[in-house]
Amino acid sequence: MCQTLAELRQAATALAAHFDPALVAPGQLAQVLRDAGAIEKMMAAVASLTAARMAASGSATTAARQAVRELAHASGTSLFEANKALEAGKQLAGQPDVAAAALAGELSRPQLALVAGAVAVNAGAAPQLLGLARTGSLQELADQSARARAAGQDLEARRKAVHLARSLRSYTDASGTWHLHAQGPLQQGAQVMAALTPFADKAFQAARKEGRRERPEAYAFDGLVGLATSGGSGPSKSQVLWRVDLATMVRGYPVDDEVCEIAGFGPVSRQAVIDLLECGDPFLKAVVTKGKDVVSVAHLGRRPNAHQQSALDWMFPICAAEGCGTRAAYLETDHRVDWAKSRVTVLGLLDRLCKFHHRLKTYDGWALVHGRGKRAFVPPGDPRHPRRAAKESVP
Ligand SMILES: [Zn+2]
Repeated sequence: MCQTLAELRQAATALAAHFDPALVAPGQLAQVLRDAGAIEKMMAAVASLTAARMAASGSATTAARQAVRELAHASGTSLFEANKALEAGKQLAGQPDVAAAALAGELSRPQLALVAGAVAVNAGAAPQLLGLARTGSLQELADQSARARAAGQDLEARRKAVHLARSLRSYTDASGTWHLHAQGPLQQGAQVMAALTPFADKAFQAARKEGRRERPEAYAFDGLVGLATSGGSGPSKSQVLWRVDLATMVRGYPVDDEVCEIAGFGPVSRQAVIDLLECGDPFLKAVVTKGKDVVSVAHLGRRPNAHQQSALDWMFPICAAEGCGTRAAYLETDHRVDWAKSRVTVLGLLDRLCKFHHRLKTYDGWALVHGRGKRAFVPPGDPRHPRRAAKESVP
């Protein structure tokens, strides 16, 4: 095998030494890109697997450190990147499908790290992630990998562990550079970034006016300083967007590929969001979805807001209970899912009932049957009562 690799390197050396892109026919440029890319990816997988084998020989920590250093040096990457590649190489041992795809040149180094990391937690996600690696962007793969990991984990347990390990350290190194490293639950990271981002945007705008161009990381640093020295004033905070499937919201936890995540940060447990709601962050907005469709932009207060009220007036000119003719002015808004449980006001989950029917519901357990608009209102023993017809999914 080593013989073949040496010959391959010789062949590659000969090709590269005389390679002149001007000599490639225009019709063949795409093929050259595909070939070069596939070879690069195959060899990245070979290097990861080799480093993993190197790490497994000898005493655990020393061998692993040595392997990371060798890999970083050989492939010209940072120790951080090399460590990720090594981890992926180790994980491939138990992932024959992912290993086969990587060795077939289907996964780049970052793709391999994402897929192997997610499949290590959620083995069933392999086919979907490998398919996405072929067709999607790296960002899409990163998002989907995070979801696959989340589906394979107890998110609430994970959050507690991350919370326990939260930390913020600062130190000054020998070159006189100040460092700050913070880690913690992602929903709190989202809050910090929502506060910081407008300051970073301001720094970017200021730089643009002066004709300066710097890295986004530089503006983020300026944003941090701006935030720390603003004394509470400054540009208004950006929003933290919670995306949740309607069914998840009603049930309390996600199943299958339902979504419950902080947009741009990743999946969270529903408890994490309840905590956010309880600290009363006015910049938290919820987008309620059903599959890919947005059902509603939920409102986090208890009472419907003005827009929702107008829609309700239009949807319920009279009491929702079948056979009742009580007019709008005398109706009360009813949360189909107890607000204390859901903490959000979603238009699609509101009904309007007259005082009489509302009381029957609250005190005697009557309920509207599944559906929307005007419909049958039944006692607890009725087979159509939503608690008995629980098998039926969310409206
Ligand atoms: Zn009524």
